[in-house]
Amino acid sequence: MLVIGAGAAGLMAAVAALENGDNVVILERNEKAGKKIYVSGKGRCNLTNVAEKEEFFKNIPTNPKFLYSAVNLFDSEKVRAFFEENRVPLKVERGGRVFPVSDKASDVTACLVKKITSLGGKFVYSERVLKVEKSGEIFTVTTDKNIYTDGKVLVATGGMSYPLTGSTGDGYSIARSFGHKIVDPKPALSALIADTPSSLTGLSLKNVEIKVVNKGKIIYKDFGEMLFTLYGVSGPIVLSASSVINKYEGETTISIDLKPALDYDVLEKRLLRDFKDNINKSIFNVLPLLMPKSLVKVVLEKSGINPEKQVNSITKEERRRLVETAKKLTFKVIGLAPIDQAIVTSGGVNVKEIDPKTMESKLVHGLYFAGEVIDYDCFTGGFNIQCAFSTGYAAGYYAAKK
Ligand SMILES: Cc1cc2nc3c(=O)[nH]c(=O)nc-3n(C[C@H](O)[C@H](O)[C@H](O)COP(=O)(O)OP(=O)(O)OC[C@H]3O[C@@H](n4cnc5c(N)ncnc54)[C@H](O)[C@@H]3O)c2cc1C
Repeated sequence: MLVIGAGAAGLMAAVAALENGDNVVILERNEKAGKKIYVSGKGRCNLTNVAEKEEFFKNIPTNPKFLYSAVNLFDSEKVRAFFEENRVPLKVERGGRVFPVSDKASDVTACLVKKITSLGGKFVYSERVLKVEKSGEIFTVTTDKNIYTDGKVLVATGGMSYPLTGSTGDGYSIARSFGHKIVDPKPALSALIADTPSSLTGLSLKNVEIKVVNKGKIIYKDFGEMLFTLYGVSGPIVLSASSVINKYEGETTISIDLKPALDYDVLEKRLLRDFKDNINKSIFNVLPLLMPKSLVKVVLEKSGINPEKQVNSITKEERRRLVETAKKLTFKVIGLAPIDQAIVTSGGVNVKEIDPKTMESKLVHGLYFAGEVIDYDCFTGGFNIQCAFSTGYAAGYYAAKK
């Protein structure tokens, strides 16, 4: 089999194909394998998640059903066993995230490359596949340097995000040349561009709740950490929200509940207490007891209250507005950050045209797809690399059995 792309999907596909008796040549445009694995998990590679199956699939906002079979064939337990058996000890961290004990993403890639080489697989680096054609039962793969032929080809070229790692969407044109439809690639796990004031840049919030509303309907709700950027918002819960927001059009807002543990009445009582204890101070100087200082001006502005006003002259109505703003600090979502800055790409080869068990194209025998080039995407937590491993393993395994 010819594998195009030495990312998580292509590498695991090569392992599965070699273990099941196929010959494998991996064509990779970069000078080395797994450039995206190197940057994953901030260089530590969160390679899978120990979540139970039901929970696991809840972390896949796009086309989870398509992934059932592949994930069941090569699940998190099997991924962990594979790396442990091949001398990459693993550890489980918060939220079921799995990392190498060494905290080195390079150990994950090195393990896969070593395994493939020991099983007789061949790597061809620094060659970019330009086109793939089929005549009879044979595929001809043309790179910028050579021509290769084989009866089976796996396209594991990734999506369009972080193009410096090699994923520039080449797989889409290869798929299209065989008549496959590409679901429009969009950013996922992306920062949001919003009408947030630049004074909030760098502010990070913990234990807040966000609600994303599209045309009056709540489309996403989450609790955790987020941060303000120069252009809007980012951080764990915002990244996950973006993978849902990208499916909607029209007016979208994000509301932050700064005090999710306190209901409106309790929060109002808390405010009253703070006011009583600081009777002669301005509201601007009292509110930092309740929220980060940099938020105070924004919250007062949104509540329509003069920052100079002394707390003893704040009216009941103004107090209510303050509570309302602290529970619903709302910004308009203008869009998602550009796709090259997104962690993953949503969209790609239409899953309706791929056999979910074998990853073989339903249009062209012998043509396989795996990884982010396919139209699925997952939330953060190790699910994306796990699904690249699962789809890669399925493709390699069934291609070898064919
Ligand atoms: C900054 C960052 C951090 C991340 N952290 C995590 C994490 O901790 N956990 C997690 O689960 N997911 C994480 N992800 C997402 C995850 O890394 C990817 O979803 C996954 O690695 C995709 O694997 P892939 O093999 O499908 O694609 P890729 O890793 O993109 O591999 C595709 C390969 O194909 C090669 N290629 C492309 N076109 C051609 C061509 N024409 N000819 C030859 N070769 C070609 C590329 O050079 C590349 O090596 C992260 C992503 C980013 C950007």
